[in-house]
Amino acid sequence: MITPSAPRRHARVLTALLGASLLFTSGAPARAAAVEPLPTKEIAPGVHVHQGSHHAWAAQDGEDVANIGFIVGAGCVAVIDTGGSPAIGQRLKAAIERVTTLPVCYVINTHMHPDHVLGNVALAAGSPGPAYVAHVRLGPSLSARAPYYLEAFRREGGQALAPDAVVYPTQTVADRAALDLGGRQLELRAWPTAHTDNDLTVFDQQTGTLFTGDLLFMGHLPVIDGQLRGWLRVIGELKALDVKRAVPGHGTVSEDLRQAIGPEETYLSTVLREVRAAIKAGVPIARTLEQLSATGTAGWQLADAFHRRNLTAAYAELEWED
Ligand SMILES: [Zn+2]
Repeated sequence: MITPSAPRRHARVLTALLGASLLFTSGAPARAAAVEPLPTKEIAPGVHVHQGSHHAWAAQDGEDVANIGFIVGAGCVAVIDTGGSPAIGQRLKAAIERVTTLPVCYVINTHMHPDHVLGNVALAAGSPGPAYVAHVRLGPSLSARAPYYLEAFRREGGQALAPDAVVYPTQTVADRAALDLGGRQLELRAWPTAHTDNDLTVFDQQTGTLFTGDLLFMGHLPVIDGQLRGWLRVIGELKALDVKRAVPGHGTVSEDLRQAIGPEETYLSTVLREVRAAIKAGVPIARTLEQLSATGTAGWQLADAFHRRNLTAAYAELEWED
């Protein structure tokens, strides 16, 4: 899920802020104790998942949106996404500490949307602290959006997060990478532009569990912030993978990835077909938005928040195709 898109500007990659403390620029200091652990479920041996709730990300009482996971190896822990605020990150940390005393060695972000990355800073403590791992394009994309995410946080939540509350990758993946948690290998794969331009999946070999990030939405309407045609191509590849279970970016864990991804593929294919037909028939964008205002949205939550912008994104993408 996402916030309103930011204007393009020259991307800068900021250095990671290992050791950054979780402090707001104003207000009370972060609580040192009595943090309520996020509820998590062990969905396979050593694989823990917190399921976020279906609503649009918002700074106040709306930051627990995305699914979050952590995987415990013999030597250390890998975290997969960190939630939509530093406070959620703190609660994630408490949830991990309830399960194991092993250190977090990797914080992996599946893409740059704020509901997945704004908890990063809470995991930064420790010596040497974790490596932050993401798609090679996450840094530039997050850097371009971060001012808008911070502004939304201040505006809606009344909390001014310091710019260094946004933590950037220290290790990037351009294609594939393997991480070792001590007797437990994770396979990371960076995908071509789909949901965003920096989607990354995480596969736990030991249990056959695939964390898809927002390449897979269930229940929550899929949100196009990358490329519709690219996303459909990636879905085709995901369907061919041999995995035992999939953890979507939003929605419930599934033991049948092909089946789970079906409704998303149907929705995106419908948007592609109908918008393409409208463009071909010379229908202007405003009328296309009206005509397709409910097309393909049956059964999805948050269509009011995201369908119209999906149509707009699709129209802009398809308008100039051959
Ligand atoms: Zn997303």
